[in-house]
Amino acid sequence: MDKPQPPLRKRSIQERRTWWTKTVAPDQQQAEFWTQTGFGLNLADTLVENAVGWMPTPLGIVSGLVVNDHSYEVPLATEEPSVIAAANFAASLTARAGGFRAGASPPLMKAQVFLESTKNDAENALELERSALETAIRSSLQSLESRGGGLRNLSWSRLKEPALLTVTIDVDVRDAMGANKLNTLAEFLSPLLEAITQGRKLMAILSNEGSRRTAWSEVCLPFSLVARGTIDGQEMARRVALASQLAQHDPARAVTHNKGVMNGISALALATANDTRAIEAAAHHYASRTGKYQGLSHWECGGEFLKGRLEIPTMFAAVGGTVGVHPTAQMALSLLEKPTAPELGMIAASLGLAQNLAALLALTGEGIQRGHMSLHDRRSQQPGTSP
Ligand code: NAD
Repeated sequence: MDKPQPPLRKRSIQERRTWWTKTVAPDQQQAEFWTQTGFGLNLADTLVENAVGWMPTPLGIVSGLVVNDHSYEVPLATEEPSVIAAANFAASLTARAGGFRAGASPPLMKAQVFLESTKNDAENALELERSALETAIRSSLQSLESRGGGLRNLSWSRLKEPALLTVTIDVDVRDAMGANKLNTLAEFLSPLLEAITQGRKLMAILSNEGSRRTAWSEVCLPFSLVARGTIDGQEMARRVALASQLAQHDPARAVTHNKGVMNGISALALATANDTRAIEAAAHHYASRTGKYQGLSHWECGGEFLKGRLEIPTMFAAVGGTVGVHPTAQMALSLLEKPTAPELGMIAASLGLAQNLAALLALTGEGIQRGHMSLHDRRSQQPGTSP
């Protein structure tokens, strides 16, 4: 009988790799790939618990995405064959019309402390201590305050059901994503808030709601540029605008519309080791901010032009977290000429609108499957892939 093994987290990464090989019993091709991708194991081990290796995702380039008159080479990490091809097509199309105009809000994130069983006049008590609380917050945010960011607002509100007092701290996180920073801040502040309100902390954590940390992008395309096959530009523009309207009214369509918007944005997030889950969650929350889930982008015809606009939460970091330690993420940011977090947000919003344009032109023109399937066919000719 095999002697009992320690739990995976108590084994070295090499021991876990041995366990993996024994357990999954790879065929020869899989074993070769596994060996080739067994690089940077110390980094993998530092980044996640129970690391056994890497799951490499293809990294490709969207070439010549023009944003605010600057042409970017944009790195995307994605396993979906059509994403980079579609974005490249739309980047080149939009560049011929001068590219995207983009902007971004300040990088505001919020931390929340939820308190239960607080005294009745807890709000008054908090108001009396506002200045002391703000001093404590600023002291915890020194590294951001010294960079021109830090505390922007301190507020509180009461929830009736469930009965909780919420203290919200709005922070300008500069070029960081801000999650760790805000979690640390919220936990640091909690004992003070408990003492002032005579309440008990339920939890203290950042919010991934990103409606105050957005980037927006717009594009204006002459009808002549969007003609597809036998369909003239004016008719294609009308169809794209109609599809955009449809995504405002049919949530089932809006989910797929937004998935297309996020194809490039998530891939850019992965290439730069950003928090893909936070960026996705914030986007889908933003898509339902009216109370109904709707398409994130808007297209309309005006004069001889098809005009598009996308505004989206962009919790992109240019420093900190995994972004700061992953060599590929660092190289990806170098390729983008080391943008600030808001600049990265503007590139992301423009990429999302480009991706959306490519999808709508394909869907309302020749249909999505022709282009998709030629890329899938290429993949199915690779050894080791199923038919
Ligand atoms: P972090 O803890 O690395 O903090 C950022 C650091 O960068 C700070 O120490 C700051 O002083 C420094 N810095 C240097 N230059 C800066 C500049 N120009 N602007 C701002 N800061 C600068 O990282 P973080 O951003 O606080 O947290 C990000 C990580 O937290 C990600 O890996 C994310 O996945 C993870 N996380 C996410 C959640 C979530 O719910 N989304 C929850 C927990 C953790």
